[in-house]
Amino acid sequence: MKQISKHLYQISLGSVNTFLIEDNGLTLVDTGFKSSRDKIFQAIRNGGKKPDDIKQVILTHSHPDHSGSVADIKRTLGVPVYAHPDDAILVEAGIGGRLPHQPSPGLANWLLFRLFIKNSPNETEMCRIDERIQDGDILPIAGGIQVIHTPGHSKGHVSLLLKADRVLIGGDICANMFGLDLSTVYEDRQLGVQSILKVAEQNFDKAVFGHGKPIICGANVKLKHKFSSLANT
Ligand SMILES: [Zn+2]
Ligand SMILES: [Zn+2]
Repeated sequence: MKQISKHLYQISLGSVNTFLIEDNGLTLVDTGFKSSRDKIFQAIRNGGKKPDDIKQVILTHSHPDHSGSVADIKRTLGVPVYAHPDDAILVEAGIGGRLPHQPSPGLANWLLFRLFIKNSPNETEMCRIDERIQDGDILPIAGGIQVIHTPGHSKGHVSLLLKADRVLIGGDICANMFGLDLSTVYEDRQLGVQSILKVAEQNFDKAVFGHGKPIICGANVKLKHKFSSLANT
């Protein structure tokens, strides 16, 4: 577990990251692929904190690498799960994502898509979503977490802005694996780019993603510079 800012920690599960927000109790953001529960809980314990202190789980979106262990964790801890309505429908139905996905340009994305995404299962364990979170909601955690609806990668994708820490949890709006780049797939890439540029207007310094490394300074400016040329005007 790696501390990103005062309230935020990143838990790397290998190919995907989840996040822990510490306030009065803990909030888990995303849950990895299925069978990730023990790995997440062990990372939390190794960081000197208790999985039993998790008060809620927030999903950035429905994909199996983010919602794969949510049913298991909800069952274990008995905590509520938050998601945007457009992806809550899928999680409740046990569906990973809306297919077909558009692979992004470039050899790395083509390879990742062919090797890891194209033929991987799209089913997840069904999980009831307790709270529907919407664009503009401020969750009363860590001094106020602003929910930003960022569709494109997935219709119900949300990003979370920890205002007090000036950190964005960007989920899969883009990725930072081999440098800052588009995510490997989108439902609607152009809408995804518009969403990146929408969040880049916000005031934050650091950004973390579902895949790859954090950006530790000037993140909003870096997102704008990287992706503004991809927007259709
Ligand atoms: Zn995704
Ligand atoms: Zn992902």
